Amino acid sequence: MQGFFDTKIEFLKGVGPQKAALLNKELNIFTYGDLIQHYPFRYEDRTKFYPINELNGSMPYVQIKGRVRHIEAAGPPRKRRLKAYLRDESGEIELVWFKGIQWVLKKLQPGVEYMVFGKPTMFGSKLNIAHPEIELLTNNNDGISYLHPVYNTTERLKQKYLDSKAISKLQRVLLQLSESRIKETLPQNLQSEYRLLSKKEALFNVHFPENADALQKALFRLKFEELFYVQLRLLKLKLARIDKFKGKPLQDTSALTRFYNEHLPFDLTSAQKRVIKEIYHDMKSGQQMNRLLQGDVGSGKTIVAFICMLLAVGSGCQAVMMAPTEILASQHYQGLQEYADKMEITIALLTGSTKKSERKIIHSYLKSGDLNIIVGTHALLEDIVQFKELGLAIVDEQHRFGVAQRSRLWQKNKDFYPHVLVMTATPIPRTLAMTLYGDLDVSVIDELPAGRKPIKTVHRYDANRLKVNGFMKEQIAEGRQVYVVYPLIEESEKLDLKHLMDGYESICRSFPDVPVSIVHGKMKPDAKDYEMQRFVKGETKIMVATTVIEVGVNVPNASVMVIENAERFGLAQLHQLRGRVGRGADQSYCILMSSYKLSKEARIRIDTMVKTNNGFEIADTDLQLRGPGDLMGTQQSGVLDLLIADLGKDGKILQAARSAALAILNDDPELERPENRNVRAQVESMRKTVVNWSRIS
Ligand code: ADP
Ligand code: MG
Repeated sequence: MQGFFDTKIEFLKGVGPQKAALLNKELNIFTYGDLIQHYPFRYEDRTKFYPINELNGSMPYVQIKGRVRHIEAAGPPRKRRLKAYLRDESGEIELVWFKGIQWVLKKLQPGVEYMVFGKPTMFGSKLNIAHPEIELLTNNNDGISYLHPVYNTTERLKQKYLDSKAISKLQRVLLQLSESRIKETLPQNLQSEYRLLSKKEALFNVHFPENADALQKALFRLKFEELFYVQLRLLKLKLARIDKFKGKPLQDTSALTRFYNEHLPFDLTSAQKRVIKEIYHDMKSGQQMNRLLQGDVGSGKTIVAFICMLLAVGSGCQAVMMAPTEILASQHYQGLQEYADKMEITIALLTGSTKKSERKIIHSYLKSGDLNIIVGTHALLEDIVQFKELGLAIVDEQHRFGVAQRSRLWQKNKDFYPHVLVMTATPIPRTLAMTLYGDLDVSVIDELPAGRKPIKTVHRYDANRLKVNGFMKEQIAEGRQVYVVYPLIEESEKLDLKHLMDGYESICRSFPDVPVSIVHGKMKPDAKDYEMQRFVKGETKIMVATTVIEVGVNVPNASVMVIENAERFGLAQLHQLRGRVGRGADQSYCILMSSYKLSKEARIRIDTMVKTNNGFEIADTDLQLRGPGDLMGTQQSGVLDLLIADLGKDGKILQAARSAALAILNDDPELERPENRNVRAQVESMRKTVVNWSRIS
């Protein structure tokens, strides 16, 4: 059924086929509904008039009012321009036009009072405003507050006269047309509980705010609604899965007990214990577990993963751990193997580079059940990988696996779905987790093992390199090891490699008696491995490297991390790198090197690193700085294509929206009650448009 808001945009008065084609192409606006949801991205405050003598060339757009004293055309015919002198009590300013002169001439009357909006610019020694917007000052607009919407547009649209102002006009036409057709999409009780404007009021006020207060309320209402429906769908998925997907109860704890009694290498932190309890509760429940496990770098996720695997293996099932990269997979493998060997549990690694012959054996052992635990990359997803009985799938995501991939793992069983534990290598901000993983239960390891000394982080300028070298010498003399990390990105790979080599040579010169390793992505895997091993064994004392060491190295004796050109790293990466030290008993240090020249954002990143060791806090700052769209791997998820809400800023609204959605679903899971009729209708109309969601279930 075609609704009013599905009407093609070309039928709107003032659009037509040509402009419609442009709107389709440039802004993805195809229908009335798309246009009305093309919200302003900011508002210009037209509530204030500046006195003309207070203007200067560095101001952004400003609004003034005054009378036109004099109008004159100037210049030769081909370069004619029109000048008007506008005067208020404080002074006078020149307004100029280079185009549309006839039209302006018709419109402007000397002696009449106008309101004028534009950007003051210094031209020679005088200030002027070129091509200002001009409106008659009438009693209607005098003194009322006036927030002017600014819409996203593109150069091509502007060439066809579809600038922000033109879009605003279209919005006015559309709103008038739609007035009686805008349906309420939230139930009455929510509207009163959260004091939400009606949908209609909100749409009118977001495009044409009556005043600042109405605008705030309109924004709140629309953001709330958007987040509410995202959360509602996630929570519905979650409920549906709990209903539908049985999980095999895995509750044999004998293996676990034996591990605790005989092989537990340290006392678990209380956070680790709590998380294990939560997971155990799920795994024995008879329903499929779908849980997100979050923990900061070094919080001890590996042993938690192993203990969960023990529950599966102890109950006669198999367990799999899937990681996004080979390095990560082999790191997990090494970590888990240590424990598995002690328990005489079979474990293997399967990645893209596993030899064919070995691969065959692994496949057959997985099928026969002789292999208890398999660790690997997406090579695990191939159809040929079959299990005797998969009980637990742990997926280490780093935001990189899509839900579709995750679900392929679930389908490796015929009778029931394996329990699924999603792990992330670095913390994700709460708001992002709630949205990306909002259909999962969440466990957080929010405590580091005892006795760890917090890493001391400092910022040093390149000019202080001698001092930094001196410090490295002291540490090495005390028996410690040091990482020196250089940035390397594809776009500037050659130059970056040169910096790395230069850095290596200069370190060799400054530390003539110290054995130094170097590792970078361009080296052959064998050579790389050899150098890594030398460092791991302590034969070399300094490791100069690119970010390849970000993952996959655990050298407790390394206590200093020097990060060169720290301004070029993202926050998550800096935090991950810092996590390579502080793994032993000694005091560890992270030294962020940079030149004096730093962008504002780079300074915030570095200051944040110096200020805190808390990964969740860092992730939050990262989200504020970059926005969710830029955080690694979130782009393709589709979950974050929000039209108006901003996960970096709207955390409180998100929380409220989620509670509201949860309350409704608890009360009326199928949305059958009359008062939830519009919610149900909205969910159904959205189901058609949102492709990504169907892939989750
Ligand atoms: P991550 O969460 O970053 O994967 P790991 O599991 O690699 O952390 O653990 C980091 C280090 O801390 C490892 O050397 C591990 O053996 C150690 N560790 C983990 N849990 C504890 C604990 N409860 N007490 C002491 N050391 C621990
Ligand atoms: Mg780990």
